[in-house]
This record gives sequence, C-alpha cells and structure tokens, in this order.
Amino acid sequence: IERTLSIIKPDATNRNLTGKINAKFEDAGLRIVAQKRIHLSLAQAGKFYEVHKDRPFYGELCEFMASAPVVVQVLEGEGAIAKNRDVMGATNPANAAEGTIRKEFALSVGENSVHGSDAPETAAQEIAYFFSGLELV
Ligand code: ATP
Ligand code: MG
Repeated sequence: IERTLSIIKPDATNRNLTGKINAKFEDAGLRIVAQKRIHLSLAQAGKFYEVHKDRPFYGELCEFMASAPVVVQVLEGEGAIAKNRDVMGATNPANAAEGTIRKEFALSVGENSVHGSDAPETAAQEIAYFFSGLELV
C-alpha cells in the first residue's frame, strides 16, 4: 500500500477549507494517516521546493508557502500518489477537471490549494522532511 505527502496550502487554510479538502481525499479512498498544522519559515519552504529554485516563480512560491500555516499530511491508499494527483487536478485551476480540489477551490496557478508528491522517491523524501518515524503508524 502506497503513501504520499500532501500539503493543504495557505490559500486554503486561510479560507478554512481543510475539512472540505480532506473529505475529497477520503471520498477518493485515501486515508489520512498523519496530519499536522505548521507554519513554515521562508528557509523551510525554500528547502522543500529546492527542485524549483531556478524557476521564475520560486521566490513567489516560497513566500506564499511561508505566508500562513499549512496542513501537512500523509495519505495512504492503493496507488496513492496518482490517486492524490487525480483528486488535486491540474496545477493551473483553469485546466483542472470538474470535481477536483483545484477546480473547486484554487485561486490561481500559484495559490492552488494543495501539493502532492509526484513519484515514489519524492514521496518518501517529502514524508521524511515533515514526519518522524514515531509519527507514522
Ligand atoms: P505541486 O508540486 O504543488 O503538487 P504541481 O506538481 O502540479 O504542483 P509544479 O510544476 O511542481 O506543479 O509546481 C509546484 C508549485 O509551484 C505549483 O503547485 C504552484 O503552486 C507553483 N507554480 C507552478 N507554476 C507556477 C507559475 N507559473 N506561477 C506561479 N506559481 C507556480
Ligand atoms: Mg510538483
């Protein structure tokens, strides 16, 4: 059974959408096996998104992610990485399918409500970035 790292981003926590977003995950068969609310520093956001450091939106992305608390969570299920990305929808909400989180809730390509790991290796790294072994059962 697979696990993936999910983040409910500041635009969504600011609008008190955590429960509605979690309902989408659960309706899709994803189980929330760990979850906490944290406020990232700019440096912590920068390290998390280091793979994007040469992209033009990197500075804006890190400032946004550090602008308010986020909810970091581990989702578990059969094919959880792909399933989570299906439920999230396309990065740009203008391209997101009906019924997806980003279609319903995202404000823009930057303020797009959720993050989800994109592969097994990044999922393992991202889970370890936020959660210790003792927090994962
Ligand atoms: P995520 O990594 O959050 O799951 P993604 O994999 O769909 O989203 P990436 O291309 O990896 O998208 O970009 C990471 C994040 O950077 C996006 O989720 C979004 O918040 C931000 N981002 C991507 N493209 C842009 C852009 N053109 N302008 C501003 N922010 C952007
Ligand atoms: Mg990505």
